Amino acid sequence: MTRISVAEARELWLHASDDELKARAAAARARFHEPDRATYMVMRIVNYTNVCVAQCDYCAFYVLPNQAGGYVLSRDEVFAKIDDLLAVGGDLVAFNGGFNPKLPLDYYCDLFASVRERYGDRVEFYALTIAEFVYLADRAGLSYHDAAARLRDAGVHWVTGGGSEILTEDFRKRHAKFKYTVREYFEAQRAIVESGMKTTATMVIGFDETLEERLEHLQRTREFQDACLRDGLDGLFSFLCWTYKPYGTAFGGREISPQEYWRWIALSRIFLDNVTHVRTSVLTQNEEAFRALDYGADDFDLPIEDEVTQKAGARIELDLERLLAVPRAMGYRVEYRRAERPAALAAP
Ligand code: SF4
Repeated sequence: MTRISVAEARELWLHASDDELKARAAAARARFHEPDRATYMVMRIVNYTNVCVAQCDYCAFYVLPNQAGGYVLSRDEVFAKIDDLLAVGGDLVAFNGGFNPKLPLDYYCDLFASVRERYGDRVEFYALTIAEFVYLADRAGLSYHDAAARLRDAGVHWVTGGGSEILTEDFRKRHAKFKYTVREYFEAQRAIVESGMKTTATMVIGFDETLEERLEHLQRTREFQDACLRDGLDGLFSFLCWTYKPYGTAFGGREISPQEYWRWIALSRIFLDNVTHVRTSVLTQNEEAFRALDYGADDFDLPIEDEVTQKAGARIELDLERLLAVPRAMGYRVEYRRAERPAALAAP
């Protein structure tokens, strides 16, 4: 299959019918996956602190330091959340919180080491997003490589690509100027990969981003993956796209339609010809997310909690069997997938 250019992607987005996009995305999906099979995980996002100095204008979750309502979860509260997840059959935790100036890198290393010690490989966890990692490394005065080594040695296997939203410098300046630059983001992600940990790509659509910005995000993601694969590194395990929830945020706005989301999933599947998994977002699209399986997605999470998106209007469905009945009724075999341990960090 021939790689498509940015110009061809633009053309497809502007002029291809839904059926054409679906057919091309299905062909791209079939290079990696059986057409009638989809995989999923049951997971929980543990928002360990809501205190944040980044002040992104699309965020309804954070409070500034010393403002009322700020919290940091205790270790017992974190363990209780993980125990609840195990009780409903899940085994993936994603830690995600704010840029809290009171929490140094040592806090995270201790927390992650204690989770690994208590649960071993019964639970896998996404320790941080690249965004939080950049902040922590900078605060600690460490290079990204040294900070990554500290986390890896504390038992971390995954630092995911969350917090990327739209990866153009202009978007960052418009909405999140204190968060990171695009250059920092990819340098940090490269250090994570080189340290032997695993990572993922994400994207959020539905702010005020232009088509050109969306395409630039995909292009940078594909280039990053090309460079990793060329250098013999694992690179990005997956690409997950979700949609902006505007409620309670300073930026406001409106939600995009499910159809626009499905079409973008299809275009992403076609364009990202070097990424194995394209994931659809039940967290932000609920049952509409499953239709994206027909547009090239092959994998999804069933989350039981995420305060960040819930504060901005996401609605979480806890009847997991009812949710799984939807892709089954569409003709998919849905199979549980465990998060992989990185080959470079194989158990002794
Ligand atoms: S999106 Fe994340 S980094 Fe930005 S203000 Fe919210 S918690 Fe902070």
